Formats: sequence, structure tokens, C-alpha cells
Amino acid sequence: MKRVAVIGAGAAGLAAAKNLLSAPEKFLCTVFEQTGRIGGTWVYTEKVGLDEYGIPIHTSMYKSLK
Ligand SMILES: Cc1cc2nc3c(=O)[nH]c(=O)nc-3n(C[C@H](O)[C@H](O)[C@H](O)COP(=O)(O)OP(=O)(O)OC[C@H]3O[C@@H](n4cnc5c(N)ncnc54)[C@H](O)[C@@H]3O)c2cc1C
Repeated sequence: MKRVAVIGAGAAGLAAAKNLLSAPEKFLCTVFEQTGRIGGTWVYTEKVGLDEYGIPIHTSMYKSLK
């Protein structure tokens, strides 16, 4: 059994975690996400500047994006 830390719950981290969790006999997986939400750059927010934890808000999303 290997212990694996996944840093970040954006698309890449979630895909990694999904695959790690599909083999529970091999991996014990913990995902660490610094914001309050999963999704990374795909999380839409109207906030700019810093989030509630004082971390710079990073998003590529905008209101009219289709
Ligand atoms: C509109 C749009 C269109 C796109 N089109 C394409 C495309 O056609 N082709 C393509 O290849 N890509 C495309 N992308 C880019 C692609 O979506 C992103 O590159 C991808 O989603 C990034 O995923 P990621 O998990 O690597 O990073 P992110 O989504 O940035 O996620 C990283 C996560 O890690 C967290 N994190 C960072 N540091 C730490 C830390 N120290 N501790 C804990 N958590 C941490 C962050 O808070 C964040 O949640 C597009 C993006 C957008 C918004």
C-alpha cells in the first residue's frame, strides 16, 4: 500500500485522484486543495483579488463564457 498526496483539486488532481481511488488495494490517496472548492481554474466567481483564505483568486472563467 502506497500513500499518495495529490496537491490541488483542479482537473488534473481530480483525474489523478479518480485513478488512485480506483485501486484502493494499492493506494491510499489524500487530496489537498487550498481553496474552499474543487475545480481549479474552472470555478467561476465574480470575486477578484484574494479569497477568504487570503489566497490570490485564479480563474479563467468569465460570465459570458459559453
Ligand atoms: C475556458 C477554458 C478553455 C480551456 N481549453 C483548453 C483546451 O482546449 N485544451 C487544454 O489542454 N486546456 C484547456 N484549458 C486549460 C485547462 O482547463 C487547464 O489547463 C486545466 O483545467 C488545468 O488543470 P489543473 O488541475 O492542472 O490546474 P488548475 O485548474 O489550476 O487547478 C489547480 C488546483 O490546485 C490548487 N492548488 C495550487 N497550489 C496548491 C497548493 N500548494 N496546495 C493546495 N492546493 C493547491 C488550486 O487552488 C487549484 O484548485 C482551458 C481552460 C479554460 C478555462
